[in-house]
Amino acid sequence: MKNRQKNLIERDYAVNWHPYTQMKTAQNIIPIVRGEGSYLYDANGKRYIDAVSSWWVTLHGHSHPYIAQKMTEQLTTLEQVIFAGFTHQPAIELSERLLGLLPSSQTKIFYTDNGSTAIEVALKMAIQANYNKGGKKNKVIAFKNGYHGDTFGAMSVSGRGIWTDPFGDMLFEVLFIEVPTAENLESIKKTIDTYVEETICFIYEPLVQGAGGMLMHKAEHLSALMSHCKERDILLIQDEIFVGFGRTGKLFAANHLSESPDIMCFSKGLTGGTLPLGITTCTEELYQAFYADDKTKALFHGHSFTASPLACTAALASMDLLLSKDTQDHINRIVEQHKGFILQLKQHPKVQDARQCGTIFAMEWKTTECTSYFSDMHDMLYPFFLERGVLMRPLGNIIYLVPPYCTTDEDLVYIYGCILEALEMI
Ligand SMILES: *Cc1c(COP(=O)(O)O)cnc(C)c1O
Repeated sequence: MKNRQKNLIERDYAVNWHPYTQMKTAQNIIPIVRGEGSYLYDANGKRYIDAVSSWWVTLHGHSHPYIAQKMTEQLTTLEQVIFAGFTHQPAIELSERLLGLLPSSQTKIFYTDNGSTAIEVALKMAIQANYNKGGKKNKVIAFKNGYHGDTFGAMSVSGRGIWTDPFGDMLFEVLFIEVPTAENLESIKKTIDTYVEETICFIYEPLVQGAGGMLMHKAEHLSALMSHCKERDILLIQDEIFVGFGRTGKLFAANHLSESPDIMCFSKGLTGGTLPLGITTCTEELYQAFYADDKTKALFHGHSFTASPLACTAALASMDLLLSKDTQDHINRIVEQHKGFILQLKQHPKVQDARQCGTIFAMEWKTTECTSYFSDMHDMLYPFFLERGVLMRPLGNIIYLVPPYCTTDEDLVYIYGCILEALEMI
């Protein structure tokens, strides 16, 4: 067994280049051979609790038998078909069902195959809608510390830093604003007003800025900002790629907000984390800006695997599970467990801040250096948790949990215990 693991590691290192990884200094990669529920098993049979839902995608646990069964049926019926000029039942049904759950302003769905491309489509929709109407606007507003993906458009609207520096000159210009609080709301509105004439859209992660460090803001303040933009004809692009499908405790972040967006983006949990799929939804008004006898007004965008029947089937099966009473009870249970743990952490001398939005938990470790993704804390904490059989990926000194909804209370208590142990030992 030990040899098998070593062999896989060596073969991987010889040929694979991993994401977000400095290959020279990277710690040993772990070959995973099986997943079941909230657990992953390596080639030695060691078990890991997947406390980050494998990069925030897994909703109902790994290798879920119900999703697997639905996908197997689809795989042997229709595995793939071009989505230009053709359509299929899974895409029609998924669009119908999703639109039934989203704010009623959303009436059309455009499919892609991951989160970044869902963002590219959202930006292209907003920008071309303005172009098709003969408008001359050219500005986009986004939050500081935001993250919307790694393709060029998505990078442009994401917070700038070490990741984007090599491409800085080639990214389009964006007006970055602070996340709203009771104190700064009025000054942000004034800044926006200075650029109203040129501004096409405002793109934001609602309630939780994930990759930026699980930064959280209040629904009431975001709603106020959304309403300010709406009154000024600035289109709202709501990126629910991370927070959608129950993570915030409600089905969508939209369910916490009093204003509805013009465009919404989904991926990650959309298929329950089974296959890549992206969705961009929009209002009828946006759709109408492209709807014409003139062929040049069409949205010229598409991917080879647009609306993959297999991925759509996985999304439908995941939705069946998500809407079940069982899963809703699990979500509420995790929300309550996190609440209790946060109370426990608040008094801890090494804890700078502990916060939660639904099933998303985050804790900032007090450090002398400023909070950063490149803080050494990650390099100490990541192996510490792995040794204890817990997969967590601290963002610098920020420890967070995004558990699959099937994670048991027993496992949550174990994970919390590991965090407390780290606070004692490191
Ligand atoms: C992960 C993420 C994306 C990008 O999705 P990918 O599928 O990784 O390209 C975009 N926005 C948010 C908020 C994300 O968390």
